[in-house]
This record gives sequence, C-alpha cells and structure tokens, in this order.
Amino acid sequence: MSLTQISQYEVWFITGSQHLYGPKVLEQVAANSQEIAAHLNESTNVPVSVVFKPVVKTADEITALCQEANTSPNCIGLITWMHTFSPSKMWATGLQILNKPFLHLHTQFNREIPWKDIDMNFMNLNQAAHGCREFAFMCSRLRLPRKVVVGHWQDEDVVQQVGSWTRVAVGVAELKVTKVARFGDNMRNVAVTEGDKVEALIKFGLTVDAYGVGDLVKAMDAVEENAVDALIETYLTDYDVAESLQPGGADHESLRYSARIEAGMKQFLDDRGCQAFTTNFENLYGMQQLPGFAVQRLMKQGYGFGGEGDWKTSALVHVFKVMSQGLPGGTSFMEDYTYHLQDDGAKVLGAHMLEVCESIAEGKPRVEIHHLGIGGKAPPVRSLFSAPAGKGFNVSWMDMGNRFRLVANELSVEKLPQDMPKLPVACALWEPKPNFKTAAAAWIYAGGAHHSAFTMALSKEQIEDFAEILGVELLMIDDDTTVAGFKKELRLNEAFYAK
Ligand code: MN
Repeated sequence: MSLTQISQYEVWFITGSQHLYGPKVLEQVAANSQEIAAHLNESTNVPVSVVFKPVVKTADEITALCQEANTSPNCIGLITWMHTFSPSKMWATGLQILNKPFLHLHTQFNREIPWKDIDMNFMNLNQAAHGCREFAFMCSRLRLPRKVVVGHWQDEDVVQQVGSWTRVAVGVAELKVTKVARFGDNMRNVAVTEGDKVEALIKFGLTVDAYGVGDLVKAMDAVEENAVDALIETYLTDYDVAESLQPGGADHESLRYSARIEAGMKQFLDDRGCQAFTTNFENLYGMQQLPGFAVQRLMKQGYGFGGEGDWKTSALVHVFKVMSQGLPGGTSFMEDYTYHLQDDGAKVLGAHMLEVCESIAEGKPRVEIHHLGIGGKAPPVRSLFSAPAGKGFNVSWMDMGNRFRLVANELSVEKLPQDMPKLPVACALWEPKPNFKTAAAAWIYAGGAHHSAFTMALSKEQIEDFAEILGVELLMIDDDTTVAGFKKELRLNEAFYAK
C-alpha cells in the first residue's frame, strides 16, 4: 500500500432550494452552483476535487444525499450553500445523520446590487442573505459544529479559506483510517504518552496495535542487499554524508545497517497498512542501533512517529503531514529539549535524541554517526539540520481521564544564533507566543506533554477547525493569552466537558 494522497479525496458541493420557484429558476440555480463548484475545483488553493451535486429541493433528497455522503469513501465532507430559500425543516433529518464535516459557504452568486436593473426576478434568485440564515438556524438548533465562510465566491481569500478547511476535513478522514504500529510498548513509568486506545478508536477511528521488536528485526533481516545498495545511492545523492560513513569508510557498515532498518520498517508498516509508528529505546532487543536516520527518513515520506511509545503524537504527526501535502513548511515529531533563558526573549531548543523530521530542514542535511549515551546500543546514524525562521505551532495531545485535550502554542521559529558543533542532533529553535514565561506557564497549567507535533505548514485556523470537527478540547496559546485568562478557560472547560 502507499500513503494517502490528498488529491484522491473530494468534497461535495450541495445547493439547497425548493420547488416553490418553478423549473426555470431552479435551472438557473443549478447552472450558477455548477459555476461556483467548478471555480473552487479549479483553484490551486483547493487541494481536493469539488464535486457538484444536483440541487436538493425536498427533505427526501437531502436525507438521501447525506446517506450517500456517509458511505462514499472518497467524500470527506460537504460544502453547503443556499442560493435561494430552502426551508430548513427539510434539512433536520439529513443533517442529523450526516457523519462527515460540512462547511457553510455564505456567498451570493451576484457580487453587487445592479441598482438600475434590479427587479423581482433578481430578488428571487439571489437570496442567500436570508436563505443561508434559515439553514443556519437549523444547524444551530441541532448544535452542529460546522465551518462558516463568508464572502464572494470569486474572492481569493474565500477560496483559500474553503481550500484550507478541506485540508482539515482530509485530516479528520485520515485519522479514521490511521493505524499506528507500536514497536514495543510505552517507556516505563512515563504517564503522558499513555492514553485510552479504546476511546481513541471509538471517538476518532484511530487504531493502535503493538508489535514485538523481534518481528521487526525479522523484516530487517529479510531486506535484500541490493535494496540496501539502492538506499545508499540515494543517501550519497541527497545528503552531505560524513566521510567515515561513505563506501570504504570505517563506519560504512553502520550506514548500511541504518538503511536496513529503514527498508525493513517501511516494509513492515506497509504490509500491515500502518501509516504511523512508535519506538521505545528500552525495547529494541535484537537491534544493533537505535533507529534514528531511518525514522527521520520515514517521517519525511509521510509516516507519523512518536518516541517512547507515544502513539498520540505519532498519529497527529502523520495526519498533519497528510493535511499539509503540497504546502510549504514541514511537520515533525518534537520535544521541548532545553531552554535559553536570556532576559529578553527566552527561547526553547526543540529536538529529540535523534528523531526529528527532515521536512523542517533548512538546506541539505548532513548525515553523521555519533555515540549516544542512552539506549546501550552501537552509535546510531542520524541526519543533522536546523529549522528555518518562520511561523510554527506545537500541538500536543493528552488523555485527561474523562476526555482528550489538545494544547497548541504559536511559535516564532528562529535560526540558531550560533553553530552547536558538540550537539549532533537535528533541532528547531523558537520563541513561544506571547512570550516564554506566559506560554510555558499556560502549557504547564494545561498539563501539556513534552512531546508535540511541530508544524510550520498549518495555520491556527486549521488547528482550531481540526479540534472543533473532532469535538476535542483545544487550548490555544498565542498572542492573546494571559495566564489569568488561561486559568479561567481551564476552569470553564472542566465544566463544559464534565460528564
Ligand atoms: Mn521523548
């Protein structure tokens, strides 16, 4: 199997109306809707196909269409629009059974009022101003989460907002089919990486299964020498490889072993339909090296990863990667590593022992081999780089006992002020928003994990929409955050989510 491509998915463009208008107006409604759907479909800002569906005019048609959407595997959601008036009692049954997210596009086919020519025919057609309000009442009456996008359909910011939401809907669909393979179990005694896997399956469709490391070693042993040769060729082309790791070098066999881990892991995951995985350095019996470079390479290809058995972060990293396919900026597994507590603008150095994804690398990574004090294995191969300056987010996922919680922090990612010649790990440096002290205090009050999905590809709106569709608590730490306000939000959420 291969990993999900975002372009394989579609959203359905649904226009509501009624028979009251007569066939002539309904023909016009359909033609206008087709034009809008085609415009969205053709935009490079919309990564999925936008499929026009015939205008719905009765409760039966609406219910049938929602049923069809529910069972259509490529449909990841609906865009709804009320060009004319569509009495919303007709929508009550369909919307209640709909199990996919929807976006309410509050637009009008005609941009401006034609002051001199406007007549009752025009008024009969361009009715979104009240048609969409009738539809919205039923959505709110049913307490349905949905995305509302307002503006003329030809405006690029509107198209962009719609396209951006379709990526979120893809993420929700992807989470439902994601399978995480855990090599070994959780790092002993660690709490935050644990969680209720049954609840994650029920709520999100996420599957998490453990595998013995011995079975992975068997898959590594089965890798043909010529497959290892091919990977070595790729490494020599795509990276700046340390001399000792090159063919004929003293450590070349270690690079070949790393290639064997990569090929074996990939085969193992693909054979089982897994798009994400975890490792645990306490549980690598039979492996000579910790999987560093192999994990970095697989993450870059789109597989999710979490260290120390962290299946939640692994799933999140994978889903974020699918959501952001084709966008600039990368997504990686990340850990708050160490602080730079300067008076003015304290910063965080993020990294992990080895496993940071090359999608966030600035420039060509260098491949080196160094001793690692943890794990008790032979020195592992790793690629080295740092992230470019830009905007980013850390998103962390915890199980609070009665619910899952996401905590996100907006980051200003910065270049390293100096080289770190004695720290051979890939990393990112950031100043959290609104500032280090407030961000760290808020994160800690929220019980945010030391592991995150770090992304420079997704927006705040996308992270917020993702949580809203999933019905998961999200605590966003950004420029508007104060510690007092954040603590109040924590208290209110305890009541809101009380069961
Ligand atoms: Mn860790």
